[in-house]
Amino acid sequence: MAHDFDLFVIGGGSAGVRMARIAAGHGARVAVAEERFWGGTCVNVGCVPKKIMVNAAEYGMWAEDATAFGWDMTVHGHDWAKLAAARDSEVTRLSGIYGRLLAGAGVTSFDARATFIDAHTLDVGGQRVTAERIAIAVGGRATKLDIPGAEHGLISDDLFTLKALPKRVAVLGAGYIALEFAGLLHGLGAQVEVFHRSPQVLRGFDQDVRIAATEAMQAQGIRMEGGVNATRIAKVPGGLVLQLSNNGMREVDAVFFCTGRVPNTQGLGLDRAGVTVTPGGAIPVDDEHATNQSHIFAVGDVTDRLNLTPMATAVGHALADTLFGNNPRRASYENVATAVFTSPPIATVGLTEEQAAARGPTDVYVTRFTPMRHTISKREGRRTLMKLVVDQASQRVLGAHMVGEDAAEIMQGIGIAVVMGATKQDFDRTIGIHPTAAEEFVTLRTRTRVAGVQ
Ligand code: NDP
Repeated sequence: MAHDFDLFVIGGGSAGVRMARIAAGHGARVAVAEERFWGGTCVNVGCVPKKIMVNAAEYGMWAEDATAFGWDMTVHGHDWAKLAAARDSEVTRLSGIYGRLLAGAGVTSFDARATFIDAHTLDVGGQRVTAERIAIAVGGRATKLDIPGAEHGLISDDLFTLKALPKRVAVLGAGYIALEFAGLLHGLGAQVEVFHRSPQVLRGFDQDVRIAATEAMQAQGIRMEGGVNATRIAKVPGGLVLQLSNNGMREVDAVFFCTGRVPNTQGLGLDRAGVTVTPGGAIPVDDEHATNQSHIFAVGDVTDRLNLTPMATAVGHALADTLFGNNPRRASYENVATAVFTSPPIATVGLTEEQAAARGPTDVYVTRFTPMRHTISKREGRRTLMKLVVDQASQRVLGAHMVGEDAAEIMQGIGIAVVMGATKQDFDRTIGIHPTAAEEFVTLRTRTRVAGVQ
């Protein structure tokens, strides 16, 4: 039986749009359905508007620091509405580009929710549509803790509709979103406290990075408290009262739940298509990103593998090439560079010291210094940490980590070296660019310690 489409993609975010565009470019008849906003989380309520707000927060700091360099400058305050308008117009522009990219590639777009009727048939806004192959790219959504008064708390999406800066903010959690939000809200002028249930922030990151990130945030005046969770939020005149598991209590203007995201699989009718879902709602996939139904694929955050936009686009692209471009290939989940846009930012690629040490003897190089800019500005909490994790036997650089100005920009280049399998000697024979912070990565001469089984 001929289907309406060769490929139907559910979800017009990073993964879905890339996959649809590339598949259509290979000549497939492709459709995409998006129920909320084109470009998905990243463009609309994630990476893009967040980074604009991080930039805004940093401008305030740079402006203040400029006085140390001789500028006659006074920062009188911040206009939230002006920032929001600039941010929203950029988001609208980018979201429009996503829509136009699809149209330009000959993809049929539906501004509608799509749900499964059976394994090849979808209900798309009330219309019955069939497809030979279906890709599920519905992403994830932020969740709240199940505590009394949770309805008074905010999730990350809500930052982008706030009409004014909340003056006193409690951030719950200590992952990517928690630390980025704490940093940008503090930078824009809020008084911020972070409460996290584990003793340390950024689970899974290198231990030195976790410590340096906490120190940097504390030194700037963000209060961090580990080993504590929220138990209740109550509305009171003039604000909210947050109750904590250690019997502490805070009166604040906003509580942000940054305590994790879940895949958006509820109500998709996956059972009618026979697609298996984990207890957490994620769709398990094989190496080709096929679900347990060989013609149904899942890409991006809905698979809950490595929830990063560039990973989602890479996987969507590779899958389209594989299925429709006669070019079977896989995007690698190894050595993916990533950054947390705190202030200063954190960036990392490859293995942590702890992961490398579990494999075998590891040479560890660590340096900490005050970047040149801040030797003049004297600003607190801006010390840079750089670290290389090197396999002792092969001398391959297995991991690179940084907390400091421009970390994300620097780590992208280091990521190429790590992906290519560069050794410490390759780093050593690379001539630095002087004076930069980045040159420290190629001038780390003295081993700090040896880790791992000898
Ligand atoms: P993360 O997994 O990074 O962090 C979740 C946080 O919530 C952790 O601190 C976790 O604590 C805490 N938490 C989870 N459950 C509970 C609970 N029941 N009670 C209290 N705390 C809890 O998720 P995010 O939501 O911050 O981000 C989701 C993903 O999106 C990230 O992992 C990342 O892949 C991606 N992302 C990437 C960004 C970037 O590239 N810059 C920016 C934002 C998001 P614990 O450590 O104890 O488990």
